[in-house]
Amino acid sequence: MTRLSEYLLPTEKQPPADAEAISHKLMVRAGLIRQMGAGMWSWLPAGWRVHQRAVAIIREEIDAIGGQEMLMPVLQPSEPWRRSGRLDIDELFKLTDRKGSELVLAMTHEEAVTFHAAQVVQSYRDLPLILYHFQIKERDEPRPRAGVLRTREFLMKDSYSFDRDQAGLEERYELHVGAYDRIMERTGLRFYRVESDVGMMGGLGAHEYMAPCPAGEDQIALAPGYAANVEVALRSPDVQKTADGYTVGAQKLSIEPAIEVGNIFKLGTRYSEPLGATYLDESGRELPVWMGSYGIGPARIVAAAVEQFADEHGISWPRALAPFAVHLVAIGKPGTPELAAAEQVYDTLRDGGVEVLYDDRELGPGEKFADAELLGCPLRLTVGRRAVESGEVEVQVRRGRAAGTGLPLGGEPAELVRIVDELWRSLP
Ligand code: ATP
Ligand code: MG
Repeated sequence: MTRLSEYLLPTEKQPPADAEAISHKLMVRAGLIRQMGAGMWSWLPAGWRVHQRAVAIIREEIDAIGGQEMLMPVLQPSEPWRRSGRLDIDELFKLTDRKGSELVLAMTHEEAVTFHAAQVVQSYRDLPLILYHFQIKERDEPRPRAGVLRTREFLMKDSYSFDRDQAGLEERYELHVGAYDRIMERTGLRFYRVESDVGMMGGLGAHEYMAPCPAGEDQIALAPGYAANVEVALRSPDVQKTADGYTVGAQKLSIEPAIEVGNIFKLGTRYSEPLGATYLDESGRELPVWMGSYGIGPARIVAAAVEQFADEHGISWPRALAPFAVHLVAIGKPGTPELAAAEQVYDTLRDGGVEVLYDDRELGPGEKFADAELLGCPLRLTVGRRAVESGEVEVQVRRGRAAGTGLPLGGEPAELVRIVDELWRSLP
């Protein structure tokens, strides 16, 4: 049941005065998000639908590689953070309870999950394991910015793998590479998986999933068949500096801004050693567990999609993320045959399982079309007098704004649903 006359979608003609990023401007204007304070955002109903689509895709793919979903707290004792050596990080929010106990608000969950692994993983028979959750992270970001691209509180899917040795970690890591590739492909985003710069930290290996977009704060180096983190590229022996820029092989390297949407790490024993997560092998030897950590932010997936596909009229969702498949616009006053026809199309689509937002408000067509283009659902159906006269519902495809074919009005309901479904499946 989604009638716009009863739905909270507070669209705005003007973006917030302080907004620079496209996603910040458009997501507020389209009524998807609202700000409460610096880096503190609420998701309104339509925005939350989009966010939850990203969450559902992530959950399916992590389940498919054997991830077990759980939930760990945000409010945590500070002791494990002291043991891991991360208590003094500036981004970490610290607080004290009424009894004087020191607590932290988790910025990520390596400490928590390793704390549990130390208690529950006993022998090699308990391994391997992939545990994950969707949980809020709190971070005292130095510069919260760009709407939901960089906030101080956000939901992250973080998974953690536990293995007997490095070979096992490599296996669990490869499974995550596959899952993350599929997640990114399914969202419809343009993305690159690049090796991250772990040199300084002496890590065992890591990759970042980067979505090119104007508001991105990272930079990636691109050439046909080549993508890398800029720092990694500039250190690579394959990359040469020439008079007019950098080259890799015979190709010119272009540098593009991008936002990191996902990040995967081979942790090794970085956390299991200080937190005492060990297991007994076949011969009864006590060994540290080999871990990996894998994060992804649904909010960044959503904002990056806005950045990548918006045009001068508004958002243009890839169909996998769209809040609704169909935005149905009724043009007609109460009591007219055109409004009755629109109501009927709405009932038909809804009963046929199509996710439809029905604009039944008593507003002029101009305002309704402007809101539809701003919100960016992939298909717009219009039912007005012209449709009643011609016996055809007008269809607009948001991406590219090409007019589609008309749909038969007043025919078999199942036929209308079938055509809409087919059209929907053909979209990017
Ligand atoms: P960045 O370099 O952009 O600060 P990060 O390296 O701190 O990111 P991770 O700690 O690896 O990020 O977090 C994993 C994922 O969580 C990121 O890939 C991103 O999708 C998301 N994320 C991180 N920080 C934020 C934030 N401040 N707001 C929204 N999402 C975030
Ligand atoms: Mg960060």
